[in-house]
Amino acid sequence: MDQRTAEVPRLTVIGTGYLGATHAICMAVLGFEVLGVDVDRERIARLASGEVPFFEPGLPELLTKALDSGRLRFTTSYEEVGEFGDVHFVCVGTPQLPGSDAADLSYVEAAIGSLAPHLRRRALVVGKSTVPVGTAQRLTGVLHDLAPAGTDVELAWNPEFLREGFAVDDTMRPDRLVFGVASDWAEERLRAAFKPVLDLGTPVVRTDLATAELVKVAANSFLATKISYINAMAEVCEAVGADVKDLADSLALDDRIGGKFLKPGLGFGGGCLPKDIRAFAHRAEEIGVGQAVSFLRQVDDINRRRRARTVDLVREVLGGDLAGRRIAVWGAAFKPNSDDIRDAPALDVARTMHGLGGDVRVHDPVALDNARRAAPELTYGDSAFDVARDADVVVLLTEWSDFREVRPEALAEVVKHKRIVDGRHALDAAQWRGAGWEYRALGRS
Ligand code: NAD
Repeated sequence: MDQRTAEVPRLTVIGTGYLGATHAICMAVLGFEVLGVDVDRERIARLASGEVPFFEPGLPELLTKALDSGRLRFTTSYEEVGEFGDVHFVCVGTPQLPGSDAADLSYVEAAIGSLAPHLRRRALVVGKSTVPVGTAQRLTGVLHDLAPAGTDVELAWNPEFLREGFAVDDTMRPDRLVFGVASDWAEERLRAAFKPVLDLGTPVVRTDLATAELVKVAANSFLATKISYINAMAEVCEAVGADVKDLADSLALDDRIGGKFLKPGLGFGGGCLPKDIRAFAHRAEEIGVGQAVSFLRQVDDINRRRRARTVDLVREVLGGDLAGRRIAVWGAAFKPNSDDIRDAPALDVARTMHGLGGDVRVHDPVALDNARRAAPELTYGDSAFDVARDADVVVLLTEWSDFREVRPEALAEVVKHKRIVDGRHALDAAQWRGAGWEYRALGRS
């Protein structure tokens, strides 16, 4: 082993989507030499030319900085990756399999399959993708089978907890790092690959592969459960005319409960929580402990019901029928500060209202291009006011600050009827009602 390998490992990042591109860029900014690889040539060309192919605050500036430093490069060649890297981070997607709740592991398998034959010296392969428990152990066998005979390679798992919209900060200053390893050597390599982050005092949990895989899905299950819990309370509030906002605020003041992820509304979406809880429930059933996490099915059901109930509320506000009514939709991304529209509640609700005959006009500050591609049947507009012109109702579905800052008096000038449905409990009800608007939100009296 040469001196460089012993001290500062060279890193590769396999899969340069939301997670991989962020990881590659941040690691280069932190001082590592990094090579990113993807099967998507266009994505690699854009990154290499300094363009981040998705919206993430702060990342474009860091990409420029990393490229200028000469420490970050991109390629489509696995041969180059094998030659270059000491530690290889696997960051490819693990979406839901069509027609099943299981995770599609074909991308992870393909990544390992493409990398392994090119590993010519001692290397650590680190999975960051979210996978069902047991995957790492199985892939360890695959890695050893496919790596050239006599090459010393090992697999570790380092689940990722970054949040889109805060991805840079979460990567540079994570709450914790989880190292699922099978040897002291793997832990030492991971410590070297995260040295600048560890130097900040970031806590590390060293554990086995299975626990590392489980930490990620357990965390996402907890967060999803908290959201669906308060939305279940919203359903009860709706039935009795109670106010879920006041209820949630009161619960949040209890230190043991806390207010994070306790916001009632349209529920969760995106490329992680929904597919992760489904894949976890599915995996638990496969290994005979389905009953232990069967509540996740209810968490999912409660969450899906929020979308239908939001459509029902709009229908009620419009007197029972959406057909031909002009509906301004604020938001398409699954959450603010992101252009990600994977399983986005906002887009789902917009499409359903369109399917019911509504004249739906959507605006989102950054997700419009993605939304147009995914739902070309909808009409889009360039601003919150643009889509609200002559609207029978305005429906806020993603709580961007742009929407929260709209003054009800100004909006009243452009709409046909002063009716607003706040799908995210993001607006000040008293302010809107005070300005003469009919303000409605699920679970609010
Ligand atoms: P993504 O779809 O944005 O990116 C995946 C990338 O992998 C794409 O660029 C794709 O072209 C590439 N890819 C696919 N097959 C490949 C192969 N064989 N070789 C090289 N590249 C390949 O997905 P993402 O959101 O970045 O998620 C990646 C993983 O990280 C998932 O398991 C996800 O659950 C997990 N995760 C995501 C987040 C998040 O906020 N997005 C957070 C934590 C964990």
